[in-house]
Amino acid sequence: MNFDDLPQLEPLPLIPEQEEDKELFYPSWQCFCCQDSGIVQQHLARLIMPKYSWNNDKWPACQNCDAFNQRWGDAGLQNFDTRFNLKICQKLDLISRDDWQQTVQRQIDIRAIASASETIAKKMTMPGSSDRTANDEREVQQRKQEAEAYDWAAATTAYLGGGEDE
Ligand SMILES: [Zn+2]
Repeated sequence: MNFDDLPQLEPLPLIPEQEEDKELFYPSWQCFCCQDSGIVQQHLARLIMPKYSWNNDKWPACQNCDAFNQRWGDAGLQNFDTRFNLKICQKLDLISRDDWQQTVQRQIDIRAIASASETIAKKMTMPGSSDRTANDEREVQQRKQEAEAYDWAAATTAYLGGGEDE
């Protein structure tokens, strides 16, 4: 047997190389209090009830939107915590909206930094590829504009304007 003529192969990566996902994550729900689930998000509920446990306690019904009625209306109100009135839920919605806005802004900042360092790395390995730099810069600017164009207040205004008074 001749062991010298074994074939030489390139390894096959498990995860194919691909363009990293460049889409920013924007929350798609209408209600930031319950994320359209009808149940107030646990971390928000804890602002009102610090000891609240998703596992052990009645879930607070969101009264900032219609999702609770639609999804849980048949389940019986006695099974839920209904003390989170419209005003509380609206405040939680605003707090969460603010959090998300910062989260998206952070994503943009991180990407801008990553893109900038990538550009520097490319410059060092490939001198003379300056048009690539311009493209990166344009992309960063475009993302910034996207974030600025996203109307964070729109849904809130709709809720606050349309809600009935207590
Ligand atoms: Zn809601």
